[in-house]
Amino acid sequence: MAEEYLKHILKLLRDNEVPELSGEYEKEPSIVKIHEELKVIREILQAFSSGNFSSPITIQGIIPNHLKSLQTSFRNLIWQVQMIEKGDFTQEVHFTDEFSKAFNNIVRRLELSLSKLKEKEDSLADINNKLRKEVESKENLKESNTYFKFLASHDSLTGILNRRAFIETVEIELATAAYLCVPCCLAMMDIDHFKKFNDTHGHVAGDEALRHTVKVISSRLRKNDFMGRYGGEEFVLFFYYANKETGLKILDRLRVNLSESPVYLEKGLIEIHASFGLVEVDVERAAEKGYIQKLIRDADTALYSAKLSGRNKVVVFSQEMDSGYYEI
Ligand code: GH3
Ligand code: MG
Ligand code: MG
Repeated sequence: MAEEYLKHILKLLRDNEVPELSGEYEKEPSIVKIHEELKVIREILQAFSSGNFSSPITIQGIIPNHLKSLQTSFRNLIWQVQMIEKGDFTQEVHFTDEFSKAFNNIVRRLELSLSKLKEKEDSLADINNKLRKEVESKENLKESNTYFKFLASHDSLTGILNRRAFIETVEIELATAAYLCVPCCLAMMDIDHFKKFNDTHGHVAGDEALRHTVKVISSRLRKNDFMGRYGGEEFVLFFYYANKETGLKILDRLRVNLSESPVYLEKGLIEIHASFGLVEVDVERAAEKGYIQKLIRDADTALYSAKLSGRNKVVVFSQEMDSGYYEI
């Protein structure tokens, strides 16, 4: 009987299948208890070998106690690994000396690499920020440069080219005209009796009249023609692809347009008239240095003639006119 019983225990410890308790052992409670306890230990070991530490150990004794503490250690290890996975690199594993050393080293290296990566990311973000700010400030500078260039080349009251910018633009046009032999004209325009206009209606109304005049004239210019404010109530115009006959037609139409477009003031509609002097560009001389000054002088001579002969008219310059009376 004892030998049979020992064989049964050996089977329980060695065999893959759990051996059945034979009829006569089933009646022995102590044998049944040992059989049941060894069965539980088998199941626990099976669970451990497959990596499942979740089933609780219910029986008592030295082996179950050791298994219990092993289970606790494994559970703690799993929890610590999960915490590290979430980014808690403070976890220190204390489970079998060599494993702990290697594992903790891996965690430390991982933490170091991550903090270096973070530093790099921060410095890249810094560089990115600096670059963005530099680009922004350059763009602002570009915008303000464009704005300052506009301010420097345009008249603040009327928004058209100022005298200097007009002359520079005409010089470029003259060079092209000389090269391509294109007929062009330059004209001076001066509002008639504008002093009286100011005296009668005030300077604010005078400013409004100047803006109105520019609006009427510039909105009717052909695509390549342009005007500038020469100073005060005097304006300059340039007509591209126009000989003096064409220039005269264009200018006379503009003169009529202006006289038929009164400015609207609080008191009502007030008429504005202007006189014009026109000169045709001599394409043979157009590229000469200082030729623009001669053109302006001649146009002004013609304008003076228009004023003398009754105002509100266009006079074309001719060599016979005395251009010596007025020095610019
Ligand atoms: P004329 O027909 O001979 O050209 O007579 P005029 O009165 O127009 O000529 P004058 O040169 O004696 O007067 C020009 C006036 O233009 C004098 C000045 O007060 C006025 N004026 C010049 N610039 C401005 C401006 O920006 N705003 C205003 N409101 N008036 C201006
Ligand atoms: Mg004047
Ligand atoms: Mg005038």
